Amino acid sequence: MTEELRKLINLILEGKTSSMLLSGKPFSKPEKIALYIAQAFLCDELKINNSLCDECQSCNLLSANSHPDFKVIERSKDRTQIQIQQIRDATNFIYSTPLISGTKIVLILNADELNFFAQDTLLKSLEEPPKNLKFILTTSKPYKLKPTVLSRLTHYKLNPDKHVLSSDLNNDGSLENNTNDFPEECWNQDGKIMKVFEDLASLKGIEIINFLIKDKDKDTLLVKLNWLSKIIEESILIHFTETLSDTPFAQLSKEIKNTIDLSALINLYDQILPVINSLQLNENLNYDFQTNGFNY
Ligand SMILES: [Zn+2]
Repeated sequence: MTEELRKLINLILEGKTSSMLLSGKPFSKPEKIALYIAQAFLCDELKINNSLCDECQSCNLLSANSHPDFKVIERSKDRTQIQIQQIRDATNFIYSTPLISGTKIVLILNADELNFFAQDTLLKSLEEPPKNLKFILTTSKPYKLKPTVLSRLTHYKLNPDKHVLSSDLNNDGSLENNTNDFPEECWNQDGKIMKVFEDLASLKGIEIINFLIKDKDKDTLLVKLNWLSKIIEESILIHFTETLSDTPFAQLSKEIKNTIDLSALINLYDQILPVINSLQLNENLNYDFQTNGFNY
C-alpha cells in the first residue's frame, strides 16, 4: 500500500463522514480500496496505522462472506442497472442495529449503475443516515450520479499513481485534484459547454430537448439535464452571492454567470426542472412519447 493511500484511508477512518464516494479510473481499483476500508471499519483489532488484523471475528466473517453487519449492493448479472428493489431490500438492514460490530456498512459497487429510481430511494437514506451506518459507494463515472446524491457524499478521488493498494511503493504527492467530472460523452471542453449555454439561452421547452438530443444518444438526456440544472443553479447562486463553491464546475458557472444574463438563466432553469421531473417519473415510458408531451 502506498503512503498516499495509507493517508487517505486514515483520513476516511478518522473522519466523521457517514456517506462516501470513492471514484477513480478502473485501474485504480476503487472496489478493492473500498473493501479494505469496509473491513477496517469493522475490524475489532485494528493495528498501528489502521492495518487490518485479519484474525478477529469480524475479519474472519468478512473473509467467509458472512458478516451480518456488512451488505454489498451491485448490479445483477442479468440486468443492466441496479434496481430500486435492491435498495428497498436493504432497508431493513439499513435501519437495524448492528449485530456484532459497532458499525454497519453498505457498500454499493459501481454506483453509477444505480437507476434513477434506485438513486431517489437511496437518497432518502443518505439524507437521514441512521447512526452506526456507513455508506461506501464506488464508481469510475461519478458524473452519472444525480447531483442530489453526489451532494450527500464525501467524494474521495483516487489517483492511480498514488493510491495503490497492492504495492509498497512510497510516493510523495497529494490527493488528485481532478476537476474534470463532467459527463465526457456530453461535453468535454469548457469552451464547448459555454457555446451550449449560449445557444440554450435563446431556446424554450421542447426546443431545449431537441437541441440537446440532436446528435447524441437519447439515454444520456437525463444525465445531461441533471448536470445542466446543477450548473445553472450554481451560476444563479453566484449572481446573488458572488462566492464560488468547490464543485468541479465552479469556474464554468462563473463564466456562464458573466456571459448570460440572470433572467435568461432563471428562465432556462424553469424550463428544465419540470422536464427532469417528468423524465424521472416516466422512466419506463417510450422516449419519444415522453418528450413530445412537453409543449410549453
Ligand atoms: Zn480484524
